[in-house]
Amino acid sequence: MNDVLPAQVGRWQEMERVAREVFALYGYREVRTPAVEQYALFARGVGELTDIVNKEMYVFEDKGEELLALRPEGTAGTVRAFIEHGAHVEGLQKWFYLGPMFRRERPQKGRYRQFHQIGCEAFGVAEPAIDAEQIAMLDDYLARMGVRAQLRLNSVGDPQCRPPYLEDLRRYLAARKGELCPDCNSRIERNPLRVLDCKVESCQPVLREAPRLLDRLCDGCRAHFDAVKGALEDLGVAYELEPRLVRGLDYYVRTAFEFTSDALGAQSAVAGGGRYDGLVEMLGGPAVPGVGYALGQERLALILESLGRKAPEPAPAVFLISADAAGAREALRRAAELRRAGVACDLDPRGGKLKAQFKQAERVHARYALVLGGDEVASGQAKLKDMETREETPVSLDALAGRLAAATR
Ligand code: ATP
Ligand code: MG
Repeated sequence: MNDVLPAQVGRWQEMERVAREVFALYGYREVRTPAVEQYALFARGVGELTDIVNKEMYVFEDKGEELLALRPEGTAGTVRAFIEHGAHVEGLQKWFYLGPMFRRERPQKGRYRQFHQIGCEAFGVAEPAIDAEQIAMLDDYLARMGVRAQLRLNSVGDPQCRPPYLEDLRRYLAARKGELCPDCNSRIERNPLRVLDCKVESCQPVLREAPRLLDRLCDGCRAHFDAVKGALEDLGVAYELEPRLVRGLDYYVRTAFEFTSDALGAQSAVAGGGRYDGLVEMLGGPAVPGVGYALGQERLALILESLGRKAPEPAPAVFLISADAAGAREALRRAAELRRAGVACDLDPRGGKLKAQFKQAERVHARYALVLGGDEVASGQAKLKDMETREETPVSLDALAGRLAAATR
């Protein structure tokens, strides 16, 4: 789990601000759900046999009442809220969320036990256009953040074409289990699709030759997939087909995708998502289709860092420096006036040596500094010093707010 200190928080605020802007452009509205839900929601929604629920979830008993869990992802809780508040009666719903998620994973670069996701869900549209639009929205977001990531796309079929494929896959994997790692072996029965996702080098030859679900899609899934690809092409979003792409959650059908970046090393996915048509119904709601994704903020922060991008930090327009007691009183008064006018300003209430106060002005990256003492108070005139060029310009104290408001707008 990480602390985000003030020096880095600008990056986080930027990720979130741009996300809000992009979501608004596409008509997605924010939903805020609790970080704690009933354990049963995730067991049913994410899948009891998935690693996430099986191994990684923080589960606790609420004083002998019921079993609760810290949310490991955002979709299950969002779907619960959608059902609980009968949101389907209003037809198509496009929601987004931001917030912390919890998984007891082995901590390493890009993988933490409390991490943060920016995610969205669209409920009520079975048409492939929304899959493509949502992917394009994420592509748009990454572009606005100045990040290039590769879109990897697959179809994971549906309850019609997947089961017979899984039988074939199990049979194939079982026949070659001697060539597969222990993790893969333990998944052949439980979750054979996940085996395809194994990153262990020695498993790759077996996985490369494995039967592909993409070759076995039923007509419905095939048509859906073709339409998603067509719409992405119309929208100018480049993708790579990745027949072995699966998702770690049980609920996905048809469209599955990931955005990856070389900057991330082994934990290469910055975002992932797909379609989950059966999930709302499975969690006790009406038969409403859905599609969504989640982006990992820590991973996006790592990419931005690797690009050498500085985190934006707010800085005061002016730092008021006091030369004496009269100047200190004036500084406090003028600071209030400036702030009322919407001009960010700062001062050091400890006063002290001019040099130390100038140092503080530099530390907070103030654009200007202004020294106030008895003379300035008496004359109503002071010198505005540009902290970069060191140039000094005379100003009337009464004109200061107007002048800085214009200069820093
Ligand atoms: P991975 O394959 O990297 O484990 P995942 O498939 O488990 O990812 P999802 O559940 O789809 O991930 O979550 C979406 C995104 O959330 C991921 O693409 C990643 O950016 C981020 N994410 C997932 N788990 C973690 C974690 N433990 N720490 C930091 N970010 C994470
Ligand atoms: Mg994972």
